[in-house]
Amino acid sequence: MIPFNKPYITGKELRYIEDAVARGQLSGNGDYTKKCHAYFESTFRFPKVLLTTSCTDALEMAAILLHIQPGDEVIMPAYTFVSTANAFVLRGATIRFVDSRSDHPGMDEHAIEALINDNTKAIVVVHYAGVACDMDLIQKIADTHNLAIVEDAAQAFGATYKGKPLGSFGALSAFSFHETKNIQCGEGGLLVINEENLQARAEIIWEKGTNRSAFFRGEIDKYGWVDIGSSFLPSELNAAYLFAQLEESERIQKQRTAIWEAYYKQLKEWAARLGIQLPVIPDYAINNAHMFYLFCRDNEQRTRLIQHLKAHGVHAVFHYLSLHESPFYYKKHDGRALQNSDQYTERLVRLPLYYELDPQPVIKALLGYDS
Ligand SMILES: *Cc1c(COP(=O)(O)O)cnc(C)c1O
Repeated sequence: MIPFNKPYITGKELRYIEDAVARGQLSGNGDYTKKCHAYFESTFRFPKVLLTTSCTDALEMAAILLHIQPGDEVIMPAYTFVSTANAFVLRGATIRFVDSRSDHPGMDEHAIEALINDNTKAIVVVHYAGVACDMDLIQKIADTHNLAIVEDAAQAFGATYKGKPLGSFGALSAFSFHETKNIQCGEGGLLVINEENLQARAEIIWEKGTNRSAFFRGEIDKYGWVDIGSSFLPSELNAAYLFAQLEESERIQKQRTAIWEAYYKQLKEWAARLGIQLPVIPDYAINNAHMFYLFCRDNEQRTRLIQHLKAHGVHAVFHYLSLHESPFYYKKHDGRALQNSDQYTERLVRLPLYYELDPQPVIKALLGYDS
């Protein structure tokens, strides 16, 4: 069976972990954490970053940093992972879900403004499949209404909007290094703090509400409990593993892109014949080959296609159940129908995409499907 995902290991991970062990500091914010931070700050020109134990944690930090509290409203797409919403619900926020675009599972930028009121505090954008939302448009809306932007860039490592890296647009942005993402360390994440006046507090929240980081830099002579926070920083073992992946990220991205393009070119005619849509990448976005999905004609076609692939040894999977229809949130949702989002819930299927994948058997199995 060709799996849906297989985490890629570059070969240097264990060597770096061994080195981290030899250095004798395994708790967070050691040498490998600093190497990872330096990588992101120089490669993507992010002004300040903090490694976290997951993207979920990075989003939770974002909600704390923005002082989200009961009564506040946060706008985000319904077609996303639970953590996008959960991070803000944990602080007591009400979520206002936006529908997806008709040509892409990402949020419909033109549907945002109608949801803004006096309680709105933030817009959380999700770059689905690593494909950028229209950030100029969203920035304009946020500026007009004085709202913070948070980017859930979990899937967006290396992707850009008009040439600028995703993750550099939000006041705060969150990346994931979960094993299903392009660059991974099992479980891991990153918070990008673009807004300068949030940077000092971010470090405190990261270190359990203490000013320990400033203490170790020699900026203060004792450290203590100064704010709320949690244990958001990963151990050096995770950071060492992640650094090995970051060093090889160019090669990893190139290989994934080659697979993505093979799918696109070789499936184009077949898909058009069956009424299946391939991913749409807007001109302003450079795709990071995080995901290759098919948007089927209807739910029955998707079910048959998944069955057909399974019979030919290929594991393909659908994706989110839109959050406004989730068992946890449907009663709290304001009741608006989100038609596009529902369509992606019912009709989208993701193909295997990982570094070591030979896409040809998958393509061959697909070309053998004709209804
Ligand atoms: C993967 C993912 C997350 C969660 O990432 P973790 O690192 O597993 O916490 C959040 N949002 C989106 C859009 C994701 O794809």
